[in-house]
Amino acid sequence: MRKLILSTDNKNKAKELREILKDLPLEILTKKEAGVENLQVVEDGDTLEHNSLKKARELAELVDHMVMADDSGLFVDALDGAPGVYSSRYGGEDGNDSLNNKTLLKNLQGKERTAAFRTVIALITEDGREMTVQGECRGEILEEPRGENGFGYDPLFVPSGYSETFAQLPSEIKNSISHRRRAIDALREKLEEILSE
Ligand code: IMP
Repeated sequence: MRKLILSTDNKNKAKELREILKDLPLEILTKKEAGVENLQVVEDGDTLEHNSLKKARELAELVDHMVMADDSGLFVDALDGAPGVYSSRYGGEDGNDSLNNKTLLKNLQGKERTAAFRTVIALITEDGREMTVQGECRGEILEEPRGENGFGYDPLFVPSGYSETFAQLPSEIKNSISHRRRAIDALREKLEEILSE
């Protein structure tokens, strides 16, 4: 069976992908499962495309299979797209979720609160063809956090059409409407084409 190697070792991301793509004739492995132990890619690009492609290219150098990498972020309209590609370190280089959320609330005082989570997935085939797909989930940023589930900005983000935050909604609901899910759905279309060539 053809293999798809993920640039992540995050077991939850791998499990989610395997579940969504389970009907495709594809074995999905984390990079560690594929024998890649020490790949640390510096995510120094200023777009999600740049970072996801960089991660995928560095992994493609090390394996003979298809590879993919993703990069996500929260883009707030009134902040010209910040924190965007810097979402994980918005509160400072050694920032954490709580500091990132506090920084966001401070910078958003008195401003419009519409925003979007975005994910870009880069895919590189065995013969070196590169492509990217993306997914977006629009919503609004609350004035204070609500809910215990999830991670990152989840307690502040209410997706459009819902009244609860990503941290209050059951994970099955979040995972069915999220930016990541929409990017994976777009990835599936590319993979179906590639697998039927
Ligand atoms: P990553 O590229 O998936 O590691 O995401 C980068 C950063 O974006 C994370 O550290 C979070 O701050 C933020 N982020 C991405 N996806 C989500 C999400 O689904 N919920 C909350 N925050 C997220």
